[in-house]
Amino acid sequence: MEAFVLRGEGVGEADISVTLLTREGRRVEGFARSARQPSSRLRAGILPFTVSDLTLVLGRRQWIVRSAVPLLSFSGLRSSLYGLSGASAVAAVLAEGLPDAPESGLYAATTRLFRDLHVAISAREGGSLIARRVAAALLRALALTGLAPPFDQCVRCTSADRLAAVSPSAGGVLCGSCASDLTDSRSFSSRALADLGARRIPVSNGEVRELALFLGRFASWHLPAASAKVSLAASMCGGDDFRVR
Ligand SMILES: [Zn+2]
Repeated sequence: MEAFVLRGEGVGEADISVTLLTREGRRVEGFARSARQPSSRLRAGILPFTVSDLTLVLGRRQWIVRSAVPLLSFSGLRSSLYGLSGASAVAAVLAEGLPDAPESGLYAATTRLFRDLHVAISAREGGSLIARRVAAALLRALALTGLAPPFDQCVRCTSADRLAAVSPSAGGVLCGSCASDLTDSRSFSSRALADLGARRIPVSNGEVRELALFLGRFASWHLPAASAKVSLAASMCGGDDFRVR
């Protein structure tokens, strides 16, 4: 069957546990025995960000990967730390956030997302452009999971007026009065919030940094298993003078 490899985690010395998204839009966990051995024939086909033709058989407790032939590899995503951390964060969001029930259209949307990021990273654009691409990819991944933070109305009172801040714990944008009693709210320019509400990435680098910071903290509240990877990508989005605190 054809599937996209979202992630692979080493298990012990020899094995790799993989998370796949099948063409039918179903997330599947598989176990690739001895795939960490240099001689393993499974290795190339279970690399993250690869479209592969896989054979899975149902073992006693889980799906076992019997064969994995790479069909298409978005290798550009592994060509730089930016690409790797951004793609790993996107994959972690999808691996944790995607629903268990299969969903049509999900596979095409997911492979398109990674292909776009691969093309952008491979073009060796400057750091600030890459940061925009990674932030956009994270928002697209969150939208696919149905967990995207709403930016067009206050997440507490649903008012669309006087939007002024974002709060990771509240999970999105807040109006001025709701923001005042949340300690983790950070003010955001109305222009940046208008961009986000219209599903655009804000223009200025400072706003992209703020967005990345928000997404890193948002993940720690709402997608804890993906949090470390999203925080790392978010801190790289901000460049050297920017750290997720
Ligand atoms: Zn409000």
